[in-house]
Amino acid sequence: MTPLLETRDLVKDFTIGGEIVHAVNGVSLTIENGEFVAIMGTSGSGKSTFMNMIGCLDIPTSGTLMLDGVDTKTLSNDQLAEIRNQKIGFVFQQFNLLARTSALDNVAVPLIYAGVPRAERLRLAEEKLVEMGLGDRLLNSPAKLSGGQQQRVAIARALVTKPLMLLADEPTGALDTQTSLDIMAVFQSLNEKGITVILVTHEPDIAEYAQRRVLFRDGKVIDDALVKNRKRTLANG
Ligand code: ADP
Ligand code: MG
Repeated sequence: MTPLLETRDLVKDFTIGGEIVHAVNGVSLTIENGEFVAIMGTSGSGKSTFMNMIGCLDIPTSGTLMLDGVDTKTLSNDQLAEIRNQKIGFVFQQFNLLARTSALDNVAVPLIYAGVPRAERLRLAEEKLVEMGLGDRLLNSPAKLSGGQQQRVAIARALVTKPLMLLADEPTGALDTQTSLDIMAVFQSLNEKGITVILVTHEPDIAEYAQRRVLFRDGKVIDDALVKNRKRTLANG
């Protein structure tokens, strides 16, 4: 089967003050459909830069990125945007929700770009919010929601276009321990329903909820192994 994602010698350089920083320095990684991967590493090891490239938010300096069998080098900016909108759902540490905008409208935003009519957008957004246990919070703005609720709105927004994979960059970084576990329960249950999850974390105990752990250091992968004694959230037994 074609891997969902395959990188070969992926490199991203940044030039700051005339000096080149090799943020990602030759990463070759294959991720199959249905995996739940945690990307770990200390701050500055290149995790976010790597995620931004595989999410088509940023273009590699060199190397190959294959998404669902397609070499992204062959794609135009419009085609990359389409992949980003249709195949990839993003979740961030700071939720990145629109303030003074209801949960419902926040979740419906990606469907605007997908050209879905408004009534259908709201129907699909409501469906996802109900799935996230927020059926009674549809009209709340982010300020009227807890951190965990806001992150579940963000996950609903990431899912509303039915993407192939979820990319989450430190999704529990702004949450307390119990709320972090609630969010990991959400990811485990989504993954069990078939969606591929790639999650960046620098917290070893969060990584234990994933199936596979990839360790970055200085822009390179220095370890890649299945998680032993994987932790399960109660909801998933
Ligand atoms: P992590 O997410 O693991 O903390 P990053 O991918 O954010 O690491 O950063 C990796 C390295 O690349 C760091 O040295 C960082 O300073 C540098 N870097 C990241 N983004 C940029 C940028 N836009 N411009 C310049 N340097 C950057
Ligand atoms: Mg980062």
